[in-house]
Amino acid sequence: VIFWCYSGDSDSIKVFVRVRPLTQGTGLTTDGDQSLCLTVTSPNTIRLLSKPEPRTFTYDHVADMDTSQDAVFSSVAKNIVEIKWKNILLYNHFAYIGQTGSGKTFTMLGPSELDNFTDELRGVIPRSFEYLFFLINREVERSGQSKSFLCKCSFIEIYNEQIYDLLDTASASLFLRENIKKGVFVEGAVEKFVNSAAEAYQVLSMGWRNRRVASTSMNRESSRSHAVFTMTLESKESINEVVNIRMSQLNLVDLAGSERQKDTHTEGSRLKEASSINRSLMCLGQVIMALVDVSNGKNRHICYRDSKLTFLLRDSLGGNAKTYIIANVHPGSKCFGETLSTLQFAQRAK
Ligand code: ADP
Ligand code: MG
Repeated sequence: VIFWCYSGDSDSIKVFVRVRPLTQGTGLTTDGDQSLCLTVTSPNTIRLLSKPEPRTFTYDHVADMDTSQDAVFSSVAKNIVEIKWKNILLYNHFAYIGQTGSGKTFTMLGPSELDNFTDELRGVIPRSFEYLFFLINREVERSGQSKSFLCKCSFIEIYNEQIYDLLDTASASLFLRENIKKGVFVEGAVEKFVNSAAEAYQVLSMGWRNRRVASTSMNRESSRSHAVFTMTLESKESINEVVNIRMSQLNLVDLAGSERQKDTHTEGSRLKEASSINRSLMCLGQVIMALVDVSNGKNRHICYRDSKLTFLLRDSLGGNAKTYIIANVHPGSKCFGETLSTLQFAQRAK
């Protein structure tokens, strides 16, 4: 359980909460219980019907149950691509938190049965690809070909503090390295060049399929792993014989379900699994908390190296990077406990 008691102010971290519909789709069962544990009281606030009295939580943005995928993208995600664009050296990072079944994958990708790019229900990631390539093409055209771009993607999974390549299922687990040029990176991870949104989407769906396969054949349950999709953009601009090259990076992170491990008697590999998930999520929470302190002028050491997830994301957490966190919550009364802990996690990140 993660306790959040501090609420600071930070420009580099923005937090959005999306409330999923009570009954649509599968996932969490409410056993016919239609009662709600929260109401969205404004575009920034949620009122949680806790006892003895309700509590109000404030975020950068709150999307209520009936918010469309398109509206989520416009109000939440579009900014990240724009920010990335204006300050090309910036790293961005996007994380989705929430209990299993709360709508993380729906928000990122779309409904599980989605098989086509043009569907209205496609999520934030395919929409970001489209928008990114729209901007790239416009920029190239405007510059009269003096600008060019190279875009590549990698897709990895962190499970039990081990790193697996979702674009090459035959490879053994991989290691993190760092150097001055690249910062922290996964050594040996496949990188695919993409020239259009459609190509990027293909890479994404291939990795997603592999993640599902690994979850059945290798027993790597996807709700217990963190998936990190990374896009690296190299932009080149030629001005009077001088070539400027700039790198930027966008990380899209599907975090393991944040639910507490209910079975306290788990043993062996399940226990190891449980503790390393908690470790990565705990570390992420601690890093974010430390960053909030630092941005408030406090002097704090930030322990990026304590987990694979935070070390991998080191260059995109803090510094001049922007981090957007989308917290997904279920409004049903049955989910009160998990919803409270997600709202607290998210509030602390603010
Ligand atoms: P998670 O990835 O957090 O475990 P999912 O995204 O798989 O959760 O969501 C669980 C189920 O609920 C899926 O069937 C999904 O399509 C559905 N669902 C989630 N959020 C919404 C939403 N905003 N609108 C409609 N269906 C949703
Ligand atoms: Mg999911």
